[in-house]
Amino acid sequence: MAEHADVVIVGGGPVGAATALALAKGTGEGRRLAVRVLEERRQRADAADPRALALSYGSRLMLERLGVWARLCAATPITEIHVSQKGSLGRTRMRAVEEGLPALGYVVDYADLDEAMHEALRAEGVCVAWGCRVSGFRATHAEVSLDTASATGSDGLTARLVAIADGGRGCVPPDATPPKIRDYGQAAVVANVRTQRPHAQVAYERFTASGPAALLPWKDRLSLVWTAPPARAQALMAMEAPVFLEALQAHFGDRLGRFLEVGPRSSFPLSLKTVRPVAGVRTVALGNAAQTLHPVAGQGFNLGLRDAWDLADEILGTPPDALGSAPMLARYAARRRLDTAGSIFFTDALVRFFSNDPGTLGHGRGLLLGALDGLPPIKHFVARRMMFGTRGF
Ligand SMILES: Cc1cc2nc3c(=O)[nH]c(=O)nc-3n(C[C@H](O)[C@H](O)[C@H](O)COP(=O)(O)OP(=O)(O)OC[C@H]3O[C@@H](n4cnc5c(N)ncnc54)[C@H](O)[C@@H]3O)c2cc1C
Repeated sequence: MAEHADVVIVGGGPVGAATALALAKGTGEGRRLAVRVLEERRQRADAADPRALALSYGSRLMLERLGVWARLCAATPITEIHVSQKGSLGRTRMRAVEEGLPALGYVVDYADLDEAMHEALRAEGVCVAWGCRVSGFRATHAEVSLDTASATGSDGLTARLVAIADGGRGCVPPDATPPKIRDYGQAAVVANVRTQRPHAQVAYERFTASGPAALLPWKDRLSLVWTAPPARAQALMAMEAPVFLEALQAHFGDRLGRFLEVGPRSSFPLSLKTVRPVAGVRTVALGNAAQTLHPVAGQGFNLGLRDAWDLADEILGTPPDALGSAPMLARYAARRRLDTAGSIFFTDALVRFFSNDPGTLGHGRGLLLGALDGLPPIKHFVARRMMFGTRGF
């Protein structure tokens, strides 16, 4: 016989796990919710994935409340963000002290975050079905039936609400239009690098005509996200390490002295992908399943975590018989609209505004960065939104 749950979460990546944790933390003796997380992977995230995530200060506060932060042993603080443009002198610096905070954000390994999330889920007694892939579902006004394939076989599963957090791998709410995709014509090459000078907890975002490059302070190294047209990214992936380091030096300059060492490299294609509407009959998409952003300014997971937080809050505030109902899902969608639209606009505008040939426009952009540095209220406005989302608190 099919098992029944109140909420099924498709995907146990950081957003799915955060949703399950927020539900577990929010249910007390008075309210019990049967929550299942279905994860296609058989084990923790691939430790060979060199991706590091910049978590905003706002995300840290949420992860503390979810019991995840204390389990993250290696989070490197970002106390300053240095923004510049290749080929012009203007630059802007945002500093944690100016915001009255210990850090603007923190850098963690994707794999470490995944491990900490799943440790916290185990501590809360949340059931995660590993090696269980959702291949489809049918939603009616009464419930959702899921088709699953797992190593142990499956008797099927039904739920009152399905939260899709599959990272945009193919599950969409019924009635959603096909995902809207804007290909940026860029790919990201990601690797850890060692430099002659220590990072001193400074993160660098450097805009170039071929795409932005970021260096994030990470333990005693820096995590590099170098975006470039796909053919160039392929060439960067294929280079011998010394040639790659030379190319990086020429691209980034000598602010951190010489680039001395590079670890294994990975490449990610980049596009802006949105699924609308985010909610359909008894289903809702969140995190990368709802919107996949360009990694510039490190907003994707931070936005997804706010999706998870607000969805859990909406579920916990809804009476059991209205769980997954159209009004509940409409409230959630309305609640997320401004933050999502603001974050998409911000990252998309940064990529489009800065990723073209310098010329006169480049000079103007350089001036703009320099002017921003001398305008603390505007810098403060931008920093608050990067840390806490479009609502800025
Ligand atoms: C190069 C790069 C750098 C980035 N840097 C940052 C950054 O600095 N800061 C930031 O905030 N964000 C950053 N991001 C974005 C961030 O990685 C994503 O926003 C985040 O991983 C989204 O989490 P998620 O849980 O929605 O999806 P994912 O992390 O993709 O997890 C989805 C999970 O669902 C599982 N799954 C998929 N399909 C199924 C299925 N059918 N059945 C069951 N399980 C399934 C997958 O196995 C996976 O575990 C970056 C992204 C890239 C590519």
